[in-house]
Amino acid sequence: MDGHLLSSSTIWNVVVRKMRILIVEDELDLANALARGLRQKGYAVDIAVNGEEGWELGETNDYDLTILDLNLPKLDGLEVCKRLRSSKPEMLILMLTARIRLEDKIVGLDLGADDYMVKPFHFEELTARIRALLRRDLRVREPILCTGDLKVDPASRIAWQGKRRLELTTKEFAILEYLMRHPGEVVSQEELIEHVWNEDVNLFTASVRVHIHSLRRKFGDSADCPQYIETITGIGYRLIEPEGDRP
Ligand code: CA
Repeated sequence: MDGHLLSSSTIWNVVVRKMRILIVEDELDLANALARGLRQKGYAVDIAVNGEEGWELGETNDYDLTILDLNLPKLDGLEVCKRLRSSKPEMLILMLTARIRLEDKIVGLDLGADDYMVKPFHFEELTARIRALLRRDLRVREPILCTGDLKVDPASRIAWQGKRRLELTTKEFAILEYLMRHPGEVVSQEELIEHVWNEDVNLFTASVRVHIHSLRRKFGDSADCPQYIETITGIGYRLIEPEGDRP
């Protein structure tokens, strides 16, 4: 761990960690195939089947990137792009469309799309473009997160407590990573659900409690006298930041 450097392979891997993607596409076969492929690559993916739903989901949740079809029922893709761009300026938008006229492309990019792909396309090209777009965020993302004696490497998905490697499930890792991205802050159960699970998962806050309990057990932590994760009753959880770590 010590002396870990940000190698080019690390930079490449960091962007494949759990990022949240919204697909707005009315061709269900295509939407499902895309979602399946992207989930296999480790992204959390939600689908909206028309423009209105795309706008609502995009407005409500925090997605890192939206793949947006242009010809959509209920609300045109260009309008969805315009609205999302103004309400979520930080979200990346990749337009995916059968419209091949140059004017359409220019309008799309002028409305704030970050990239534009024409159907039909190769899935591998799409994922390469997604990685390229998400890499833009890397400048602000630390490759290894440290709080106290906890360390998390989002790229390799490995966590340590001191020198001991922690054996965590995918969900436990994602929860810990999220908490470590917000040390000292109170994170609500809803926020954890939103960032760690997919939208379509039928979930109760009880399952967050179960995972937190399990994480504590692995740290040797206790809810009554917490050294790592503190429960803020009725609100959520806080990763305790040792005094030396505070800015
Ligand atoms: Ca369409």
